Amino acid sequence: MSYYVAPIAKLIEELSKLPGVGNKTAQRLAFYLLDMPYHEVEQLAGAIVSAKRNIKYCSVCCNITDAEVCNICGNPKRDNTTICIVEDAKDVVAMEKTKEFKGLYHVLHGAISPMEGIGPENIRIKELLTRLGEHDVKELILATNPNIEGEATAMYISRLVKPLGIKVTRIAHGIPVGGDLEYADEVTLMKALEGRREI
Ligand SMILES: [Zn+2]
Repeated sequence: MSYYVAPIAKLIEELSKLPGVGNKTAQRLAFYLLDMPYHEVEQLAGAIVSAKRNIKYCSVCCNITDAEVCNICGNPKRDNTTICIVEDAKDVVAMEKTKEFKGLYHVLHGAISPMEGIGPENIRIKELLTRLGEHDVKELILATNPNIEGEATAMYISRLVKPLGIKVTRIAHGIPVGGDLEYADEVTLMKALEGRREI
């Protein structure tokens, strides 16, 4: 039984579907929204609907964009011979913030996970292969997450792509900046050792 009248109960139910929002937070947000001026609530609702309606996937890299081609793929100054493969659009933003990478991206929209029933056909690997067939790509950087699914995906793509004569690299994993060797787990330390370089 709900303690709230139907419209509020419905609002709480919808808000609690958002990631990281439990029932308590959903209740708090619902009451906050009710206290907001009417025009601000309308602006918020409008922004959500507009983002959902106007966002599409870049026809080249599958990143989210509001145009046919995203502004990274459309930038002639970017190096189109290097493609960095990431799991989702948030990873593109993270990479762009480093201001180090000048190549293009390919967004997979997920990672291979047999446990969750996600196979290679469920992520944007087919689009990647089409792209590699149409453009002269020299290097693929596999920047999928350093977990089981990310590693499996990187391995799968590298096996597919290597016979095409394209250089395939994997981003290094290791000790985070500001981290402490003493507290690193064995896998992280092993990866850090594997990815060592001469200084
Ligand atoms: Zn793009």
